Amino acid sequence: MFNSLKGLVVTLVSTMNGLRAPVTRQYPDTGNRLTGRVSEPTPVKDRFMGFPALTWDDEIGEPFCTSCMVCIRDCPTQCMSATMKDNPLHAQGKSRRRKIVDEFEINLGRCILCGICVDVCNFDAIEMSHEHELSKFQRNDNRVDLAQLLKMGKEYREKTGWTPKHPEKNSGIPIKKDDKPRPFRKRAPKKTTTPANTPVAVEVEIPTEDAGEKAKTPS
Ligand code: SF4
Ligand code: SF4
Repeated sequence: MFNSLKGLVVTLVSTMNGLRAPVTRQYPDTGNRLTGRVSEPTPVKDRFMGFPALTWDDEIGEPFCTSCMVCIRDCPTQCMSATMKDNPLHAQGKSRRRKIVDEFEINLGRCILCGICVDVCNFDAIEMSHEHELSKFQRNDNRVDLAQLLKMGKEYREKTGWTPKHPEKNSGIPIKKDDKPRPFRKRAPKKTTTPANTPVAVEVEIPTEDAGEKAKTPS
């Protein structure tokens, strides 16, 4: 009798659980049939790594990217390319960046989302965005240019409130002449170790008739 009642309770609890909101959401819908469907895509977590995107320096009004090529050299799939140009804002004294990115392209069809480009960039210029819905019918249709990469970066910043990791180093605001110079750190002299039995050439003067003659002998 007790076991039968226990079985009924288990069935009832299981049935009630089945009526609750599902744990697994059907992509791209959110919500469920009881509460009504929502057409918003399922949100991704903050730590989600989508396609790489370029960041924008609002203080100056230009990209952070100087097209230094470090990320392009280190990309394991060689899916990136870029060109640089002289920065006109630097010539006008409005930006600290002498060079600025001119063109930038990533073939997202070849990108493996490894994040190496972000790790090696010294200028806070590239980030793994939340963008992931870029399916195309052709293998090479997923080439994105500078404008698209910057747009992805702006959307990522609006969603996450991204700020540069090293603003003091990577700010584009020009340094004024009367600004305090950065403290200079002296490097410690390199330690040189000479093996105990290594012969060292020394110059000695041999007292001969010709006092001006010199000879080299190992010590
Ligand atoms: S994203 Fe960074 S590492 Fe890549 S070219 Fe631009 S500044 Fe250099
Ligand atoms: S995430 Fe990896 S594969 Fe994709 S562009 Fe960056 S370095 Fe290349």
